[in-house]
Amino acid sequence: MKKGKRILSLLLVLIMLFSMIGCQSTEPTSEDPAKTEDPSEETDALYTPGTYTGKGAGINGDIEVEVIVTENEITDVKVLSHNETPGVGDLALSDIPAGIVEHQSLGIDAIAGATVSSEGILEAVANALEQAGADIEALKAVKVTTEKETLVTTEKEVDVVIIGAGGAGLSAAVSAHQNGASVIILEKMPKVGGNTIISGAAYNCADPGRQVPQGIEDTIEKHYQQTYEGGDKVGNPDLIKVLVENAYPTLEWLESLGMEFNPEVFTVLGGLWPRAHKPVMPLGTGYVSTYMNYIEDNNSDIEIMLNTEATNVIMEDGKAVGVKAEGPEGPVIVKANNGVIIAAGGFSKNIEMRNEYNKAWADLTNTLSTNHPGATGDGIKMAVEVGANLVGMEHIQLLPLGDPETGSLAGNIEQAVENRIFVNKDGNRFVDEGGRRDDMTKALFEQKDAFLWIVLDSHNYPTGDVKNNFNETIDELVEAGRAYKADTLEDLAEQIGVNADNLVAAVEDFNAHVESGEPDEFGRTLYQHKMDTPPYYAGPRMPTVHHTMGGIEINTETQVIDTSGNIIPGLYAAGEVTGGIHGTNRLGGNALADVNTFGRIAGINAANNK
Ligand code: ADP
Repeated sequence: MKKGKRILSLLLVLIMLFSMIGCQSTEPTSEDPAKTEDPSEETDALYTPGTYTGKGAGINGDIEVEVIVTENEITDVKVLSHNETPGVGDLALSDIPAGIVEHQSLGIDAIAGATVSSEGILEAVANALEQAGADIEALKAVKVTTEKETLVTTEKEVDVVIIGAGGAGLSAAVSAHQNGASVIILEKMPKVGGNTIISGAAYNCADPGRQVPQGIEDTIEKHYQQTYEGGDKVGNPDLIKVLVENAYPTLEWLESLGMEFNPEVFTVLGGLWPRAHKPVMPLGTGYVSTYMNYIEDNNSDIEIMLNTEATNVIMEDGKAVGVKAEGPEGPVIVKANNGVIIAAGGFSKNIEMRNEYNKAWADLTNTLSTNHPGATGDGIKMAVEVGANLVGMEHIQLLPLGDPETGSLAGNIEQAVENRIFVNKDGNRFVDEGGRRDDMTKALFEQKDAFLWIVLDSHNYPTGDVKNNFNETIDELVEAGRAYKADTLEDLAEQIGVNADNLVAAVEDFNAHVESGEPDEFGRTLYQHKMDTPPYYAGPRMPTVHHTMGGIEINTETQVIDTSGNIIPGLYAAGEVTGGIHGTNRLGGNALADVNTFGRIAGINAANNK
C-alpha cells in the first residue's frame, strides 16, 4: 500500500514533467534567430535546408539525432539511437527534441534527474545544426525557462541526510533510525539499490559457526592479513581492522533485520579464501529488500527522495549542515540537524574520471563496466568541493569476467573458484584462477583479444536448472548462446573454437593438481573436485571495470577528513565513495562487507552527533 502510494506520486511527478514543455515560456533575446526571421525581409537564410545527423555524449555512450531544417526553421528533431537509462532518460529523449522544435532554441533547460541525457541531445542537435550552417551561439541564447525555475524550492529539515540509496546509504539510514534519528535519503536514480543490487553479493567475514563444519580454518586476523596484503599493504590498517572486526557483527545485524544467508560459505572470484557468504535472494536484492522492508515499516521517519540528484553539501561555519539537490519538481534543500552522510558510490561509469586517475591500466576509455549508470563519482566531487581529502584514486579494479557484449557480470557461469579454469583462445590456461583480481585481469590483457573461456563441469551444475549467481539457469544460458555445453572436452573445444588437444591437456594437468593438492605452474592452490564429469560447459568473458577503490578519506568513525588532516564536522562517508580500505586491490567479497559495515557505523555516528 505504502509502496503503491510512492509509485503513484512518482507517476504524478513524471506526468507533470511531461506537461512541462507545454508550460515553458520563451524569453527571446535580441539575438533570437527565430524571431529575427521575417520572410518579407531580405535576410540571409538561417540554415541550409536538409536533413542532418549529429552525435552527443549520453550517459552510456553516444546519442545520435536526425535534424530536419528549412531555410528558417528547425522542423523536426528525432533521436535515432541512444543507450540512456530507461525511466529518467526517457523524459529527456521525448521532451528535449520537442522543446527544440517548439521554441527554435538550444537554450533549453536540462530535465531534472536526466541532465546528462538532456545535454547529450542538445550537443547532438548542435552538432547537426552546425553542419546546416546555423549560428549555434544564437540558438543557445534563446533561453527557455522551464517550470522548474518558477517552482518554489522544497525545503526540509531532518536529523540525518544521506546522499545515495545503495547498500551504504540504506544501511546508514536504518542504523541512524535505530539510533533515534529522522532520515532523508536523496537518490538521483528512479530506483534504489545502486551497484549493490546488481552485485554478486558475496559477503566476507570469518564465521566459525559456518566455516568449522565445512572444515575451513579462518580467523579475523587471517581476513585482516589477506585484505592488507591483497591490497599490497596500501590500505589503512585501522580501517581494515574496523572492517574485519565488524563484518561478522554486521552480518548478524542484517540477519536480525530478516536477511538470510546460505549455511555454507564459498570462495568468490579474487576472494582468496572460503569466507564468502551468499545471500539466499539473488544478486544484491537480499540486502536492498531487507533495508527497504525496515524503511517501509518506519516511513514516517525515513523518507527516500528518488530522481533527486544531490549537487552540494551545505556548509556553515566549517560544519556540514545539509545538502542541496535537484528534484523532479525543482531545487531541494535538506537541512541536517546532526549529520550529512555521503554514500554515493564510485566512479566506474565516469570515463573522464577513470581516465584522469587511472595509472595501473593502459587506456580504459573503451573498457566496459559492470556498474549501474549512476556510478559517476558525484559524491567524490561534492566532498572535494567542501575540502575533503581523497586517497588511492588511482586504484581502479577490473575483473576478468565481464560479459563480452555488456561488461556485466550476468551470464558468468562460474560457481566457486575451486572448480573452474580459464583458457585463452588457444585452449591454454594462463593464470592462477584462484589469485588476485588485478593479477588475473593483467594476465588476461596479455592473451589474444583479452578474451577467456571459463571451463567447468557438472560438479557446478548437477542439473540444467541450477542457477548461477545471477539467477540464470545453465540451461537458459546455453539456450541463449551465452554458454556452451558438451559431453566431451573435444566437442566443447570444437563448439568454442579452441584447440582440443590443448584444452584436454589443460584439464588433465588441472586434475593432476587436484589429486596432489600441490601448487601448479601458475601457483594455484585452491582446488576441490576433478573436472571429469560431463556435461562440460564453457562461457566467454572479458575485462570489465568493476570498482573504484579510491575516494574520500575517512577515519574509523567514518568522519570525512580534509586536506589538512582535520575532521570536517558533521560530514560522514561510507561505501565505495570512500578510499583507503582496499589498497591497490580489493578482495572479492570485501565490498559488501565494507559497504554494510561502514554504512552502519556512519548511521550510528551521524545520528549521535547532536
Ligand atoms: P555503495 O555500494 O557504496 O552503497 P552503490 O553504487 O550501491 O554504492 O550506491 C550509490 C548510490 O548513490 C546509487 O544508487 C547512486 O545512484 C546514488 N548516487 C550517486 N550520485 C548521486 C547524487 N549526486 N545524488 C543522489 N544519489 C546519488
